[in-house]
Amino acid sequence: MSKNPEFVKFDKVDKSYDGKVLVVKDLQLDIAEGEFITMLGPSGSGKTTCLMMLAGFETPTNGEILLDGNIISNIPPHKRGIGMVFQNYALFPHMTVYENLAFPLRVRKVDKVEIDKKVDKALSMVSLNGFETRMPAQLSGGQQQRVAVARALVFDPSVVLMDEPLGALDKNLRESMQYEIKHIHESIGVTVVYVTHDQSEALTMSNRIAVFNDGKVQQLSSPADLYEKPVNSFVAEFIGENNTFNGEVSEVSGNKCKVKLSNAEIVSNAISVKSKGEKTTVSLRPERALIEPTEKMENMFSGKIEEVIYHGDHTRVRVNLLGNPEFILKVPNSTSNLELKVSQEIKVGWNSHDARALDPK
Ligand code: ADP
Ligand code: MG
Repeated sequence: MSKNPEFVKFDKVDKSYDGKVLVVKDLQLDIAEGEFITMLGPSGSGKTTCLMMLAGFETPTNGEILLDGNIISNIPPHKRGIGMVFQNYALFPHMTVYENLAFPLRVRKVDKVEIDKKVDKALSMVSLNGFETRMPAQLSGGQQQRVAVARALVFDPSVVLMDEPLGALDKNLRESMQYEIKHIHESIGVTVVYVTHDQSEALTMSNRIAVFNDGKVQQLSSPADLYEKPVNSFVAEFIGENNTFNGEVSEVSGNKCKVKLSNAEIVSNAISVKSKGEKTTVSLRPERALIEPTEKMENMFSGKIEEVIYHGDHTRVRVNLLGNPEFILKVPNSTSNLELKVSQEIKVGWNSHDARALDPK
């Protein structure tokens, strides 16, 4: 059976809590069956509100949400077949691990033999067999979150919502849990709608990412496209590191353009600009600019090194370039045998196809 590409559908959804300000604006989003989609954005951008509406704890002000083709407005949360893991949606502290997992099954009137089977299966997904009789307080933070994941999956939901589920964990544990959740998703193929403000978490885990700002989806793409092909300055700034130049378009030809800065002219991929005279912000990833390139590049300028920081696998070099003292380069250490020193004059080069002329900031 083929997978439904519109398994979850937000159809022109607005949300206002106070009847005045829209915190979600005209959301149009299709989520495929089995997909891992992440809503990524700064705090207050409307991500949790979207999950709450999908879960049924909030109602859209306008528009509809559909699950497998059916409008779900009138279906209460516990009948939507949706599992949830929230940072603050704690385990029941007075119940054992087994009872925590059995609870959503009891609510659904599953019989005892079946409950034992399902609890066992869910615990094995998160490698916690043998922990059935423990109380939540006897588990580490990471183990508690794994139980929460198991509890969200135990009743075979069609969709699982996760809202910053790893937010309370320290960095190493958070990273290993990212892989663990990703692998669980790959092995059982449940549809996951994940929320985070952490871009590296989103890039690691997702099939697609919807970048939110101010209640609107700015871009919906694969992790690679989001990083390599940001469609506007907000996305370029929010995902990864980014060098920017503000200027005015002096020429557009085909998909290339020239941009006049106060002290130079640069060549860029013309993404959002159409004609001469438009203001633009050109975005360039730090690793796409080279120090002392051996071949000629379309953009080539002299700059002065302001700072050199060794990062193990790469060196981060801050250069004063074209009047911008914050221009960042990342030089891979394996291939670099340059002796980079503060105050050194160097040539920096990049090609037009690696730079993106976007809407002005
Ligand atoms: P995010 O999860 O991206 O941080 P939220 O969806 O929680 O964003 O919040 C979006 C906006 O809606 C914020 O301005 C927030 O203050 C507001 N908001 C969220 N929940 C409520 C609520 N229950 N009542 C009133 N305003 C809310
Ligand atoms: Mg939130």
